[in-house]
Amino acid sequence: MPFSENTMNRLFTLLFVLSLTAWAADPWSTPSSQIDAVYPQVESLYLDLHRNPELSFHEEKTAAKIAEQLRKLGYDVTTEVGGTGVVGVLKNGSGPTVMLRAELDALPVPEKTGLAYASHVTTKNDQGVEVPVMHACGHDLHMAIGIGTAALLAQNKDRWRGTFIYVGQPAEERVGGAKAMMKDGLFTRFPKPDFAVAVHDTNGLPAGKVSYTPGFSASNSDSVDVTVYGVGGHGSAPQTTVDPIVIAARTIVTWQTIVAREIDPQEPAVITVGSIHGGTKHNIIPDEVHMQLTVRSYKDEVRKHLLAAIERIAVAEAAAAGAPKKPLVQLTDSVGAVYNDPQLTNRLAERLQQVFGVANVQLERPMMWSDDFAEYRSGGVPSTMIELGAVNPAKFQEAKKSGESLPSPHSPFFAPDREPSLKTGIAVEMAALLELLGKP
Ligand code: ZN
Ligand code: ZN
Repeated sequence: MPFSENTMNRLFTLLFVLSLTAWAADPWSTPSSQIDAVYPQVESLYLDLHRNPELSFHEEKTAAKIAEQLRKLGYDVTTEVGGTGVVGVLKNGSGPTVMLRAELDALPVPEKTGLAYASHVTTKNDQGVEVPVMHACGHDLHMAIGIGTAALLAQNKDRWRGTFIYVGQPAEERVGGAKAMMKDGLFTRFPKPDFAVAVHDTNGLPAGKVSYTPGFSASNSDSVDVTVYGVGGHGSAPQTTVDPIVIAARTIVTWQTIVAREIDPQEPAVITVGSIHGGTKHNIIPDEVHMQLTVRSYKDEVRKHLLAAIERIAVAEAAAAGAPKKPLVQLTDSVGAVYNDPQLTNRLAERLQQVFGVANVQLERPMMWSDDFAEYRSGGVPSTMIELGAVNPAKFQEAKKSGESLPSPHSPFFAPDREPSLKTGIAVEMAALLELLGKP
Protein backbone atom coordinates (compact mmCIF):
# COMPACT_ATOMS: atom_id res chain seq x y z
CA MET A 1 0.00 0.00 0.00
CA PRO A 2 1.73 3.23 -1.10
CA PHE A 3 0.06 5.56 1.44
CA SER A 4 -1.10 5.12 5.00
CA GLU A 5 -4.75 6.00 5.61
CA ASN A 6 -3.69 9.14 7.46
CA THR A 7 -1.50 10.34 4.62
CA MET A 8 -4.35 9.75 2.19
CA ASN A 9 -6.69 11.69 4.44
CA ARG A 10 -4.32 14.63 4.72
CA LEU A 11 -3.69 14.60 0.99
CA PHE A 12 -7.39 14.49 0.33
CA THR A 13 -8.15 17.40 2.69
CA LEU A 14 -5.36 19.42 1.06
CA LEU A 15 -6.73 18.73 -2.44
CA PHE A 16 -10.22 19.57 -1.26
CA VAL A 17 -9.10 22.87 0.29
CA LEU A 18 -7.07 23.71 -2.83
CA SER A 19 -10.05 23.01 -5.08
CA LEU A 20 -12.18 25.34 -2.99
CA THR A 21 -9.52 28.07 -2.97
CA ALA A 22 -9.05 27.77 -6.70
CA TRP A 23 -12.67 28.64 -7.26
CA ALA A 24 -12.95 31.23 -4.51
CA ALA A 25 -13.20 34.00 -7.05
CA ASP A 26 -16.49 32.83 -8.55
CA PRO A 27 -19.82 33.86 -7.04
CA TRP A 28 -20.91 30.30 -6.13
CA SER A 29 -17.87 29.17 -4.18
CA THR A 30 -17.45 29.58 -0.49
CA PRO A 31 -13.87 30.28 0.59
CA SER A 32 -12.51 27.38 2.62
CA SER A 33 -11.58 29.87 5.35
CA GLN A 34 -15.30 30.54 5.87
CA ILE A 35 -16.11 26.82 6.01
CA ASP A 36 -13.20 26.27 8.42
CA ALA A 37 -14.53 29.07 10.61
CA VAL A 38 -18.00 27.47 11.04
CA TYR A 39 -16.62 23.91 11.18
CA PRO A 40 -16.05 23.66 14.96
CA GLN A 41 -19.70 24.63 15.60
CA VAL A 42 -20.92 22.20 12.91
CA GLU A 43 -18.75 19.34 14.17
CA SER A 44 -19.75 19.71 17.80
CA LEU A 45 -23.43 19.77 16.77
CA TYR A 46 -22.84 16.65 14.65
CA LEU A 47 -21.16 14.79 17.52
CA ASP A 48 -23.92 15.78 19.93
CA LEU A 49 -26.66 14.69 17.50
CA HIS A 50 -24.83 11.44 16.76
CA ARG A 51 -24.48 10.58 20.45
CA ASN A 52 -28.12 11.42 21.19
CA PRO A 53 -30.33 10.01 18.43
CA GLU A 54 -34.13 9.94 18.70
CA LEU A 55 -36.74 7.83 16.92
CA SER A 56 -39.25 9.10 14.35
CA PHE A 57 -41.86 11.56 15.72
CA HIS A 58 -39.99 11.66 19.07
CA GLU A 59 -37.25 14.07 18.01
CA GLU A 60 -37.99 16.61 20.78
CA LYS A 61 -34.41 17.20 21.98
CA THR A 62 -33.04 17.13 18.43
CA ALA A 63 -35.62 19.70 17.31
CA ALA A 64 -34.79 21.93 20.30
CA LYS A 65 -31.08 21.85 19.41
CA ILE A 66 -31.75 22.77 15.78
CA ALA A 67 -34.16 25.54 16.80
CA GLU A 68 -31.58 26.96 19.21
CA GLN A 69 -28.84 26.97 16.55
CA LEU A 70 -31.10 28.72 14.02
CA ARG A 71 -32.26 31.31 16.58
CA LYS A 72 -28.64 32.12 17.44
CA LEU A 73 -28.01 32.73 13.74
CA GLY A 74 -30.86 35.24 13.61
CA TYR A 75 -33.45 33.03 11.91
CA ASP A 76 -37.17 33.42 12.51
CA VAL A 77 -37.85 30.00 14.08
CA THR A 78 -41.12 28.09 14.49
CA THR A 79 -41.20 24.74 16.29
CA GLU A 80 -43.76 21.93 16.54
CA VAL A 81 -44.66 22.10 12.86
CA GLY A 82 -46.25 18.74 12.05
CA GLY A 83 -45.21 17.29 15.42
CA THR A 84 -41.55 17.97 16.13
CA GLY A 85 -40.73 19.82 12.87
CA VAL A 86 -38.64 23.01 12.90
CA VAL A 87 -38.85 25.83 10.37
CA GLY A 88 -36.19 28.55 10.27
CA VAL A 89 -36.74 31.47 7.90
CA LEU A 90 -34.09 33.98 6.84
CA LYS A 91 -35.38 36.82 4.67
CA ASN A 92 -33.00 38.86 2.60
CA GLY A 93 -34.98 41.18 0.36
CA SER A 94 -37.07 40.26 -2.64
CA GLY A 95 -36.11 37.20 -4.65
CA PRO A 96 -36.78 33.48 -4.87
CA THR A 97 -37.69 31.33 -1.87
CA VAL A 98 -35.68 28.13 -1.43
CA MET A 99 -36.09 25.45 1.24
CA LEU A 100 -33.43 23.04 2.41
CA ARG A 101 -34.71 19.82 4.00
CA ALA A 102 -32.81 18.04 6.79
CA GLU A 103 -34.30 15.03 8.61
CA LEU A 104 -34.41 14.89 12.41
CA ASP A 105 -34.95 11.17 13.05
CA ALA A 106 -32.74 8.15 13.72
CA LEU A 107 -33.33 4.39 13.45
CA PRO A 108 -33.81 1.46 15.83
CA VAL A 109 -30.36 0.05 14.99
CA PRO A 110 -27.61 -0.96 17.48
CA GLU A 111 -24.51 1.07 16.64
CA LYS A 112 -21.46 -1.14 15.97
CA THR A 113 -19.08 1.41 14.43
CA GLY A 114 -16.75 1.42 17.43
CA LEU A 115 -16.45 5.21 17.11
CA ALA A 116 -15.56 7.23 20.21
CA TYR A 117 -18.81 9.14 19.73
CA ALA A 118 -20.98 6.07 19.01
CA SER A 119 -24.54 6.06 20.31
CA HIS A 120 -25.34 3.90 23.33
CA VAL A 121 -28.92 5.12 23.47
CA THR A 122 -31.83 2.77 23.97
CA THR A 123 -35.45 3.78 24.23
CA LYS A 124 -38.96 2.35 24.19
CA ASN A 125 -40.51 2.27 20.73
CA ASP A 126 -44.21 2.95 20.09
CA GLN A 127 -44.99 -0.70 20.94
CA GLY A 128 -43.29 -0.30 24.33
CA VAL A 129 -40.30 -2.48 23.38
CA GLU A 130 -36.82 -1.30 24.45
CA VAL A 131 -34.76 -0.74 21.26
CA PRO A 132 -31.30 0.64 20.44
CA VAL A 133 -31.17 3.93 18.54
CA MET A 134 -28.57 5.11 16.03
CA HIS A 135 -28.23 7.79 13.38
CA ALA A 136 -27.59 4.99 10.88
CA CYS A 137 -28.92 6.95 7.90
CA GLY A 138 -26.73 10.02 8.45
CA HIS A 139 -29.56 12.42 9.24
CA ASP A 140 -27.28 13.92 11.90
CA LEU A 141 -24.84 14.72 9.09
CA HIS A 142 -27.59 16.39 7.03
CA MET A 143 -28.78 18.48 9.99
CA ALA A 144 -25.25 19.64 10.88
CA ILE A 145 -24.36 20.45 7.26
CA GLY A 146 -27.59 22.44 6.97
CA ILE A 147 -26.70 24.46 10.07
CA GLY A 148 -23.26 25.22 8.59
CA THR A 149 -24.98 26.38 5.43
CA ALA A 150 -27.53 28.41 7.41
CA ALA A 151 -24.66 30.13 9.24
CA LEU A 152 -22.79 30.97 6.05
CA LEU A 153 -25.92 32.33 4.35
CA ALA A 154 -26.51 34.56 7.38
CA GLN A 155 -22.90 35.79 7.16
CA ASN A 156 -22.95 36.37 3.41
CA LYS A 157 -26.15 38.31 2.89
CA ASP A 158 -24.46 40.50 0.29
CA ARG A 159 -24.07 37.44 -1.98
CA TRP A 160 -27.72 36.45 -2.31
CA ARG A 161 -31.29 37.70 -2.16
CA GLY A 162 -34.69 36.20 -1.44
CA THR A 163 -35.79 33.88 1.35
CA PHE A 164 -34.00 30.82 2.69
CA ILE A 165 -35.91 28.25 4.74
CA TYR A 166 -34.25 25.52 6.83
CA VAL A 167 -36.76 22.71 7.30
CA GLY A 168 -35.97 20.24 10.09
CA GLN A 169 -38.33 17.41 9.16
CA PRO A 170 -39.40 14.67 11.56
CA ALA A 171 -40.00 10.99 10.82
CA GLU A 172 -38.47 10.53 7.38
CA GLU A 173 -37.80 6.89 8.25
CA ARG A 174 -41.50 6.34 8.77
CA VAL A 175 -42.28 8.40 5.67
CA GLY A 176 -44.76 10.47 7.65
CA GLY A 177 -42.92 13.66 8.60
CA ALA A 178 -43.09 15.58 5.33
CA LYS A 179 -46.81 14.89 5.04
CA ALA A 180 -47.34 15.99 8.67
CA MET A 181 -45.47 19.27 8.11
CA MET A 182 -47.39 20.03 4.91
CA LYS A 183 -50.67 19.30 6.68
CA ASP A 184 -49.61 21.70 9.42
CA GLY A 185 -49.15 24.51 6.90
CA LEU A 186 -45.51 24.31 5.80
CA PHE A 187 -46.45 25.86 2.45
CA THR A 188 -49.14 28.23 3.77
CA ARG A 189 -47.96 29.50 7.16
CA PHE A 190 -44.48 30.15 5.74
CA PRO A 191 -43.38 31.52 2.36
CA LYS A 192 -44.05 28.83 -0.27
CA PRO A 193 -40.72 27.72 -1.75
CA ASP A 194 -39.95 28.09 -5.45
CA PHE A 195 -37.49 25.21 -5.03
CA ALA A 196 -36.74 22.49 -2.48
CA VAL A 197 -33.25 21.03 -2.11
CA ALA A 198 -31.87 18.21 0.05
CA VAL A 199 -28.65 16.25 0.34
CA HIS A 200 -28.48 12.61 1.40
CA ASP A 201 -25.32 10.71 2.25
CA THR A 202 -24.38 7.55 0.37
CA ASN A 203 -21.84 4.73 0.64
CA GLY A 204 -21.72 4.70 -3.16
CA LEU A 205 -19.26 7.59 -3.40
CA PRO A 206 -16.16 8.73 -1.53
CA ALA A 207 -16.36 11.89 0.56
CA GLY A 208 -15.63 14.87 -1.66
CA LYS A 209 -17.88 13.68 -4.50
CA VAL A 210 -21.59 14.11 -5.11
CA SER A 211 -24.05 12.69 -7.60
CA TYR A 212 -27.32 13.79 -9.17
CA THR A 213 -30.20 11.99 -10.89
CA PRO A 214 -32.59 13.98 -13.06
CA GLY A 215 -36.13 12.53 -13.08
CA PHE A 216 -37.09 9.55 -10.93
CA SER A 217 -34.37 8.79 -8.38
CA ALA A 218 -36.23 6.83 -5.70
CA SER A 219 -39.34 4.73 -5.96
CA ASN A 220 -42.95 4.69 -4.84
CA SER A 221 -42.96 2.59 -1.69
CA ASP A 222 -46.06 0.83 -0.42
CA SER A 223 -46.25 -1.37 2.65
CA VAL A 224 -48.93 -4.03 2.36
CA ASP A 225 -50.13 -6.33 5.17
CA VAL A 226 -51.88 -9.52 4.13
CA THR A 227 -53.62 -11.99 6.45
CA VAL A 228 -54.61 -15.34 4.94
CA TYR A 229 -57.29 -17.32 6.77
CA GLY A 230 -57.68 -21.09 7.00
CA VAL A 231 -59.19 -23.65 9.34
CA GLY A 232 -56.76 -24.87 12.00
CA GLY A 233 -56.39 -28.37 13.39
CA HIS A 234 -54.03 -31.27 14.13
CA GLY A 235 -50.91 -31.49 11.99
CA SER A 236 -51.53 -35.24 11.53
CA ALA A 237 -55.01 -34.71 10.05
CA PRO A 238 -54.73 -32.12 7.24
CA GLN A 239 -57.95 -33.42 5.66
CA THR A 240 -59.88 -31.82 8.54
CA THR A 241 -58.29 -28.39 8.01
CA VAL A 242 -57.70 -25.67 5.42
CA ASP A 243 -53.97 -25.02 5.82
CA PRO A 244 -53.20 -21.26 5.62
CA ILE A 245 -49.45 -21.94 5.51
CA VAL A 246 -49.86 -23.77 2.21
CA ILE A 247 -52.15 -21.01 0.92
CA ALA A 248 -49.56 -18.38 1.94
CA ALA A 249 -46.76 -20.34 0.26
CA ARG A 250 -48.72 -20.64 -3.01
CA THR A 251 -49.73 -16.97 -2.81
CA ILE A 252 -46.10 -15.84 -2.42
CA VAL A 253 -45.00 -17.88 -5.42
CA THR A 254 -47.85 -16.58 -7.58
CA TRP A 255 -47.07 -12.98 -6.52
CA GLN A 256 -43.65 -13.46 -8.13
CA THR A 257 -45.38 -13.75 -11.50
CA ILE A 258 -46.75 -10.20 -11.23
CA VAL A 259 -43.41 -8.53 -11.96
CA ALA A 260 -42.21 -11.40 -14.16
CA ARG A 261 -45.38 -11.80 -16.31
CA GLU A 262 -47.65 -8.78 -15.93
CA ILE A 263 -45.39 -5.69 -15.87
CA ASP A 264 -43.61 -4.22 -18.89
CA PRO A 265 -39.95 -5.33 -18.56
CA GLN A 266 -38.93 -1.71 -19.21
CA GLU A 267 -40.73 -0.56 -16.05
CA PRO A 268 -38.99 -1.12 -12.69
CA ALA A 269 -41.05 -2.95 -10.07
CA VAL A 270 -40.31 -4.94 -6.92
CA ILE A 271 -42.51 -7.10 -4.69
CA THR A 272 -40.74 -8.39 -1.59
CA VAL A 273 -42.37 -10.41 1.19
CA GLY A 274 -40.21 -9.29 4.09
CA SER A 275 -42.06 -11.02 6.88
CA ILE A 276 -44.24 -14.12 7.26
CA HIS A 277 -45.65 -15.39 10.53
CA GLY A 278 -48.01 -18.25 11.19
CA GLY A 279 -48.34 -21.12 13.60
CA THR A 280 -46.81 -21.98 16.94
CA LYS A 281 -45.66 -25.60 16.83
CA HIS A 282 -44.70 -28.53 14.55
CA ASN A 283 -47.93 -30.44 14.78
CA ILE A 284 -50.55 -27.70 14.74
CA ILE A 285 -52.08 -26.29 11.58
CA PRO A 286 -52.80 -22.64 12.43
CA ASP A 287 -55.89 -20.77 11.31
CA GLU A 288 -54.12 -17.72 9.92
CA VAL A 289 -50.86 -16.47 8.45
CA HIS A 290 -49.71 -12.87 8.40
CA MET A 291 -47.39 -11.42 5.72
CA GLN A 292 -45.77 -8.01 5.26
CA LEU A 293 -44.76 -6.82 1.80
CA THR A 294 -42.86 -3.88 0.42
CA VAL A 295 -43.88 -2.86 -3.08
CA ARG A 296 -41.71 -0.53 -5.20
CA SER A 297 -42.32 1.19 -8.52
CA TYR A 298 -41.88 4.53 -10.30
CA LYS A 299 -44.94 5.10 -12.42
CA ASP A 300 -48.42 5.51 -10.99
CA GLU A 301 -49.99 3.01 -13.40
CA VAL A 302 -47.39 0.36 -12.45
CA ARG A 303 -48.03 1.03 -8.78
CA LYS A 304 -51.79 0.62 -9.22
CA HIS A 305 -51.31 -2.60 -11.19
CA LEU A 306 -48.99 -4.12 -8.55
CA LEU A 307 -51.32 -3.34 -5.65
CA ALA A 308 -54.42 -4.60 -7.48
CA ALA A 309 -52.63 -7.80 -8.59
CA ILE A 310 -51.43 -8.55 -5.04
CA GLU A 311 -55.03 -8.46 -3.82
CA ARG A 312 -56.44 -10.35 -6.86
CA ILE A 313 -53.95 -13.22 -6.42
CA ALA A 314 -54.35 -13.39 -2.63
CA VAL A 315 -58.13 -13.64 -3.00
CA ALA A 316 -57.94 -16.20 -5.84
CA GLU A 317 -55.43 -18.47 -4.06
CA ALA A 318 -57.57 -18.47 -0.92
CA ALA A 319 -60.66 -19.29 -2.98
CA ALA A 320 -58.80 -22.09 -4.80
CA ALA A 321 -57.96 -23.65 -1.42
CA GLY A 322 -61.51 -23.37 -0.13
CA ALA A 323 -60.57 -20.90 2.60
CA PRO A 324 -63.39 -19.93 4.97
CA LYS A 325 -63.02 -16.23 4.24
CA LYS A 326 -61.28 -13.77 1.95
CA PRO A 327 -57.77 -12.64 2.95
CA LEU A 328 -57.43 -9.20 4.53
CA VAL A 329 -55.22 -7.00 2.34
CA GLN A 330 -54.30 -3.63 3.86
CA LEU A 331 -52.15 -0.79 2.53
CA THR A 332 -50.43 0.38 5.72
CA ASP A 333 -47.84 2.94 4.58
CA SER A 334 -47.28 4.71 1.29
CA VAL A 335 -44.92 7.24 -0.11
CA GLY A 336 -44.59 8.59 -3.63
CA ALA A 337 -41.49 8.32 -5.81
CA VAL A 338 -38.77 10.96 -5.54
CA TYR A 339 -38.79 12.78 -8.85
CA ASN A 340 -35.94 15.24 -9.19
CA ASP A 341 -37.20 18.09 -11.34
CA PRO A 342 -34.98 17.63 -14.44
CA GLN A 343 -34.58 21.35 -15.19
CA LEU A 344 -33.65 22.20 -11.59
CA THR A 345 -31.40 19.14 -11.23
CA ASN A 346 -29.47 19.80 -14.44
CA ARG A 347 -29.12 23.47 -13.56
CA LEU A 348 -27.58 22.64 -10.19
CA ALA A 349 -25.45 19.81 -11.61
CA GLU A 350 -23.91 22.13 -14.20
CA ARG A 351 -23.13 24.72 -11.55
CA LEU A 352 -21.67 22.13 -9.16
CA GLN A 353 -19.55 20.66 -11.96
CA GLN A 354 -18.23 24.11 -12.70
CA VAL A 355 -17.37 24.74 -9.05
CA PHE A 356 -16.08 21.29 -8.01
CA GLY A 357 -14.99 19.78 -11.32
CA VAL A 358 -16.85 17.31 -13.57
CA ALA A 359 -15.16 14.28 -11.96
CA ASN A 360 -16.57 15.22 -8.54
CA VAL A 361 -20.19 15.62 -9.66
CA GLN A 362 -21.45 12.41 -11.23
CA LEU A 363 -24.66 11.31 -12.89
CA GLU A 364 -26.24 8.47 -10.85
CA ARG A 365 -28.86 5.97 -11.98
CA PRO A 366 -32.23 5.74 -10.21
CA MET A 367 -32.60 3.39 -7.21
CA MET A 368 -35.55 1.57 -5.63
CA TRP A 369 -35.17 3.09 -2.15
CA SER A 370 -37.68 5.68 -1.01
CA ASP A 371 -37.85 9.00 0.83
CA ASP A 372 -40.76 11.23 1.75
CA PHE A 373 -38.93 14.18 0.22
CA ALA A 374 -41.31 13.24 -2.63
CA GLU A 375 -44.13 14.97 -0.72
CA TYR A 376 -42.77 18.46 -1.40
CA ARG A 377 -42.98 17.90 -5.15
CA SER A 378 -46.54 16.65 -4.72
CA GLY A 379 -47.16 19.96 -2.93
CA GLY A 380 -46.21 21.77 -6.14
CA VAL A 381 -42.55 22.61 -5.42
CA PRO A 382 -39.86 21.59 -7.95
CA SER A 383 -37.35 19.67 -5.89
CA THR A 384 -34.09 17.78 -6.11
CA MET A 385 -32.00 15.60 -3.85
CA ILE A 386 -28.22 15.49 -4.23
CA GLU A 387 -26.33 12.39 -3.09
CA LEU A 388 -23.32 13.17 -0.93
CA GLY A 389 -20.34 10.79 -0.82
CA ALA A 390 -19.60 9.82 2.78
CA VAL A 391 -16.97 7.07 2.58
CA ASN A 392 -13.34 7.66 3.52
CA PRO A 393 -11.67 8.03 0.08
CA ALA A 394 -8.82 5.60 0.89
CA LYS A 395 -11.28 2.97 2.18
CA PHE A 396 -13.43 3.53 -0.90
CA GLN A 397 -10.48 2.82 -3.22
CA GLU A 398 -9.48 -0.27 -1.22
CA ALA A 399 -13.03 -1.65 -1.33
CA LYS A 400 -13.22 -1.01 -5.05
CA LYS A 401 -10.07 -3.06 -5.56
CA SER A 402 -11.02 -5.93 -3.26
CA GLY A 403 -14.71 -6.00 -4.22
CA GLU A 404 -15.67 -5.74 -0.55
CA SER A 405 -19.05 -4.09 0.00
CA LEU A 406 -19.05 -1.04 2.26
CA PRO A 407 -21.61 -0.51 5.04
CA SER A 408 -24.60 1.35 3.65
CA PRO A 409 -27.00 3.72 5.38
CA HIS A 410 -29.17 1.72 7.85
CA SER A 411 -26.24 -0.61 8.63
CA PRO A 412 -25.02 -0.67 12.28
CA PHE A 413 -21.51 -0.15 10.82
CA PHE A 414 -22.35 2.93 8.71
CA ALA A 415 -19.92 5.71 9.69
CA PRO A 416 -19.55 8.74 7.41
CA ASP A 417 -16.03 10.14 7.05
CA ARG A 418 -16.77 13.07 9.29
CA GLU A 419 -14.72 16.11 8.32
CA PRO A 420 -14.66 15.83 4.51
CA SER A 421 -18.34 14.81 4.41
CA LEU A 422 -19.41 17.77 6.54
CA LYS A 423 -17.19 20.25 4.68
CA THR A 424 -18.12 19.01 1.22
CA GLY A 425 -21.80 19.03 2.21
CA ILE A 426 -21.63 22.68 3.25
CA ALA A 427 -19.68 23.73 0.14
CA VAL A 428 -22.15 21.87 -2.11
CA GLU A 429 -25.25 23.28 -0.42
CA MET A 430 -23.78 26.79 -0.57
CA ALA A 431 -23.03 26.47 -4.29
CA ALA A 432 -26.53 25.09 -5.01
CA LEU A 433 -28.28 27.74 -2.91
CA LEU A 434 -26.20 30.61 -4.30
CA GLU A 435 -27.09 29.38 -7.79
CA LEU A 436 -30.80 29.59 -6.90
CA LEU A 437 -30.66 32.68 -4.67
CA GLY A 438 -27.69 34.44 -6.25
CA LYS A 439 -27.69 38.01 -7.35
CA PRO A 440 -28.18 38.31 -11.10
ZN1 ZN B 1 -32.97 6.01 6.06
ZN1 ZN C 1 -32.13 8.88 5.23
